[in-house]
Amino acid sequence: MPRECIVCGTALMPGERHICLCCRADLPRTDFRLLSRNPMSAKFNARIAASGDEGYVPYSYAIALYYYQAGYKEISQALKYRGNLAAGRYFASLLGDEILAAPHFSDVDLVLPVPLHWTRKWKRGYNQAELIAAEVARKAGVRCRTDVLVRCRRTRSQTRLSGDEKARNVSGAFRVARVPEAGHILLVDDVHTTGSTLFACYEALRGVMGPEVRISVATLAYVGD
Ligand SMILES: [Zn+2]
Repeated sequence: MPRECIVCGTALMPGERHICLCCRADLPRTDFRLLSRNPMSAKFNARIAASGDEGYVPYSYAIALYYYQAGYKEISQALKYRGNLAAGRYFASLLGDEILAAPHFSDVDLVLPVPLHWTRKWKRGYNQAELIAAEVARKAGVRCRTDVLVRCRRTRSQTRLSGDEKARNVSGAFRVARVPEAGHILLVDDVHTTGSTLFACYEALRGVMGPEVRISVATLAYVGD
């Protein structure tokens, strides 16, 4: 991989990894670790409430490392489209640090990546959510499993769809292949836009897990309003 900053493109100094010190200092962090209730969790729980589960299941916590904006979009795009796995692992470990620093995530005992359809994974060679989830789980010292959730239907790319279209596109696209034992599950994806994909996974899990199980979400980037 070239020794240049993933955000601004300047040559990296010795000791800098993937991002220069200036861009790292300016990383638009969400600081969601400080707030067990934040805009991302509010959005996600509103969706759960709209589906009729409100009040009967534990609140879903949500965390993201940074806001998806300006040059920082490059971080998730380099991982998703340009195969920069090393940078992906590096930023996933920063997300892991955020999760470790958040008391409300301290009882997470299972990390699950949002699965890709096998044809897409085969084409790309890897699943970016899996790479992030594995690094987060390693940092937290908990299990990461890729055999629990299955994407049973190939869906269109979400990038050009409206909010409603996104929800329809992924609704029912996932199923649970093996019911895991867990008290607090952390679902992991690369970017949280409308939350449709994470919610489709949530619904599949909610269908088989007891109502006492908490299901939270974590992403590298969060698209703010
Ligand atoms: Zn830079």
